[in-house]
Amino acid sequence: MDVQQREVGQIIEPQFVIEGAGVRLKRSIATRILNYHDPFLLFDHFGSDDPEDYLKGFPLHPHRGIETVTYILEGIVHHKDSLGNAGSIRSGDVQWMTSGRGIMHEEMPKPAGGKMDGFQLWVNLPAKLKMTQPRYQEIPAEMIPEISREDGTRIRLIAGSVNGIRGPVTEIAADPTYLDVTVPAECSFSQRIERGHNAFAYVFEGEGEFGALADGGGKTVSSTKLVVFSNGDSVTIHTKSQPVRFLLVSGKPLNEPIARYGPFVMNTKEEIEQALKDLQNGTFVQE
Ligand code: FE
Repeated sequence: MDVQQREVGQIIEPQFVIEGAGVRLKRSIATRILNYHDPFLLFDHFGSDDPEDYLKGFPLHPHRGIETVTYILEGIVHHKDSLGNAGSIRSGDVQWMTSGRGIMHEEMPKPAGGKMDGFQLWVNLPAKLKMTQPRYQEIPAEMIPEISREDGTRIRLIAGSVNGIRGPVTEIAADPTYLDVTVPAECSFSQRIERGHNAFAYVFEGEGEFGALADGGGKTVSSTKLVVFSNGDSVTIHTKSQPVRFLLVSGKPLNEPIARYGPFVMNTKEEIEQALKDLQNGTFVQE
């Protein structure tokens, strides 16, 4: 059977938003332009050279019904939660947090040499797992396979499979792919993506031709933009005179109704009201 290449469906310009206690970040999913890319609820990029943009951080807040994926390129994020977990996510590390029925946590960025650069993705949980036990997968940089190809392409493999190698994040309902890909100039890169899964690329360095077909083509996308792909079996990116670096993320859509209210994402309004009641009654977090 023919491999159908995915094309560029939408190119999204990230929007500046203020979150937490006053963190300035760039948001590409959970905006008026792209509210939901099933199962992806939110995508934030918190890159800045100015500590004023992020030092206030994200003091104690709840989550229910979702997973949050934090990937740090530079700087450190200290975290602490209601289950007694505490630690830091450092350059190259990933934290995949399943909030399930409820956690309360704080996420406080600290600069390394003034710089902070990283991403947070929210992945929806299917109805049957929304009230599951909270779970953390903390993956230090050295546990993330880095695949270097002869042409100079580098792939950090966080979730999914490349060349028969599996990433360290496993047992996630959305069956996600999460890659950090650097393609040198005058090169091309292809990745199989399960047909029917939703996929996007977040371009954060350089420029490439996205959604290219075997014989070339595609759309020129320069950093910093989010590219939503159409359906198909594979994505291909060509580069010309510049290298490009991007995250490539895909997951299985849930096709379930969503009711979202800040850090809670459930299926109905009643479930959101219940989350607020649990928070008031002190029954939100169960040991
Ligand atoms: Fe959080």
